[in-house]
Amino acid sequence: MAGQLGGQPIIILREGTERIHGREALSGNIMAAKAVAGAVRSTLGPKGMDKMLVGGSITITNDGATILKEMEIVHPAARMLIEVAKTMDDEVGDGTTTAAVLTGELLECSESLLNQGVHPTIIAHGYRMAAEKAIELLDGITHTITENDDEALINIALTAMTGKGAEASKDKLSKIVVSAIKSIVDEEDGKKVVDINNIKIEKKVGSSLDDCALIEGVILNKDKAHHNMPDKVKDAKIALITRPIEFSKMELEAEIKISTPGELQKYLDQEEQIVKDIVDRIAATGANVVLCQLGIEELAQHFFAKANILAVERVERNDMDKLIRATGAKLITSVDDFSSSDIGTAGLVEITGHGDDKFLNIKECSNPRAVSILIRGGTEHVVDSTERALEDALRAVGTAVEDGKLVAGAGSAEIELALRLREYASTLSGREQLAVLRFADAVEVIPKALAENSGLDPIDMLVELRSQHEKGNKDGGLNVFTGKVENMWDNGVIEPLRIKTQAILSATEAAVMILRIDDLLAGTGMPDMGGMPGMPGMM
Ligand code: ADP
Ligand code: MG
Repeated sequence: MAGQLGGQPIIILREGTERIHGREALSGNIMAAKAVAGAVRSTLGPKGMDKMLVGGSITITNDGATILKEMEIVHPAARMLIEVAKTMDDEVGDGTTTAAVLTGELLECSESLLNQGVHPTIIAHGYRMAAEKAIELLDGITHTITENDDEALINIALTAMTGKGAEASKDKLSKIVVSAIKSIVDEEDGKKVVDINNIKIEKKVGSSLDDCALIEGVILNKDKAHHNMPDKVKDAKIALITRPIEFSKMELEAEIKISTPGELQKYLDQEEQIVKDIVDRIAATGANVVLCQLGIEELAQHFFAKANILAVERVERNDMDKLIRATGAKLITSVDDFSSSDIGTAGLVEITGHGDDKFLNIKECSNPRAVSILIRGGTEHVVDSTERALEDALRAVGTAVEDGKLVAGAGSAEIELALRLREYASTLSGREQLAVLRFADAVEVIPKALAENSGLDPIDMLVELRSQHEKGNKDGGLNVFTGKVENMWDNGVIEPLRIKTQAILSATEAAVMILRIDDLLAGTGMPDMGGMPGMPGMM
């Protein structure tokens, strides 16, 4: 690549660098992003189709986030959509398809403006204005609820799970989700905080979805350390120990010299005594269950078994955190310094399962602030898709409890936004007005795709939706099961407001970022652009 100065070529870029400039670069980027959005569009909504992802293993899913994650997209502009999905996943845990589809449509809608000669920066500016206005407008259709509004929370769970392959028992699952979230809500500075990490999901293929259960406590895929220990402890008093219970790992100051067999025996006796002392002191706190983050040596296991204590070794650190919240125990970080006040409680601790598949159940906790959900299902596919559906529902309900703000789904929020954004556009002058109008068109892609995916005519549906909203039916959405425009709030199809705000913010940001790129440089050491130019073969 070279410039020209007084006839003398000036080398600017390393040899072999590929460069695509201006409109050509922009068109290529838009095309790539649209292709990715197009790939997930058909999965949107309760009637969305599934995708079969064939890699190392086969996954069948209609979960946008999973599809985007596994598509192994290499095109840099297309990868922005994965970033969008990831942000959605991190911030709200749902709405990934919505955000990716919206990004694609914002770009699609920008093309006609670009063709008319509107500069990309003007479009970018107009889109930003529209997004800002949209966030403000969403306020006007927000419903507020409290943490105790069970019916609304259950509807949020149901809406998030619809179409995710957990249909058969979604009534039961939605109740599990709501109870789980309600037991882990924290209050920080007067604000509700929900940390999903306090809900442990344990999967087990076998039995059926009807046997999915909420456990008031923690289930771990773990067995007891020694076969002579009890399998079942009622009124459990639980010690959580982060130190290894091993003689060799104990910090002993004394130096030991052995020169005769007698001294060796004495040393061994002493070792036994020290280990026994520790077990005795733990038992003296009243503990009858010992959960250790590290190893428990055989001798100690033996003494625990003799004392009828159920001990489990190598419990993971993040599980220890859940156990603290579930049982009220405090971590014991030194084998020299602990007391009965560090001990937690549970109504029942029990080992279940067979063979290599043993579960340690710490349940019937009196005020558990960490709980578990056990997923059962006939096949691995059922178990996995139930897990994905549950995760979406947990995050959606968690977000709703934190914010207390909801909107009706089924495209109703988007139609209302489009209508009001068009009104807003008419107050603007200049080319930004055109961009805001195109933004309004773009958000309608959500009801449009919901209609398409349900075999309904998208044009007829949009016309009907718009007319209902003009009449003031703010919650009018597309009931994909009846094929009619109905009040979707009353129908219980509701979503956290944050899904909508975050989808608009993320999609706008990604679209704007792509619009502002006018140069693509690819050389060695730069990301693969999937075979520039035109980037065919990206999917
Ligand atoms: P995302 O990854 O964006 O969450 P989904 O496939 O979960 O994608 O689809 C979400 C969309 O489906 C939302 O717009 C939501 O309002 C809509 N939706 C959910 N349940 C229904 C329903 N019963 N009728 C119509 N639309 C629904
Ligand atoms: Mg969803």
